[in-house]
Amino acid sequence: MNKYNESIEFIRNRIYHLETSFKGHADLSYLDNVILPPIRELVERATPKEYVIKEIGKGRHKGLIFLSCKCGYGSIVEGDKHCGNCGQALDWEATLSNDKTL
Ligand SMILES: [Zn+2]
Repeated sequence: MNKYNESIEFIRNRIYHLETSFKGHADLSYLDNVILPPIRELVERATPKEYVIKEIGKGRHKGLIFLSCKCGYGSIVEGDKHCGNCGQALDWEATLSNDKTL
């Protein structure tokens, strides 16, 4: 769990304890279904991932390697920190160490 997820869980636990103290029970459904999903989505996007799909060029592009994000954006250049389309943080270290063909 990274520091962002730890912070989210800390806040969620605090709200749970506050609601339990004041009302005797806690209903976190609004928090879990409405408030936290977009925040978790941002955390996911900001967490660097091995997210590069590559294609080896064929025909007149033989020898070229094309990189793209899983969202389909195909103009990723090695070393880019984020996808220019969806904003996903890219983990080049993991991508390069796991891929023997690059
Ligand atoms: Zn993308």
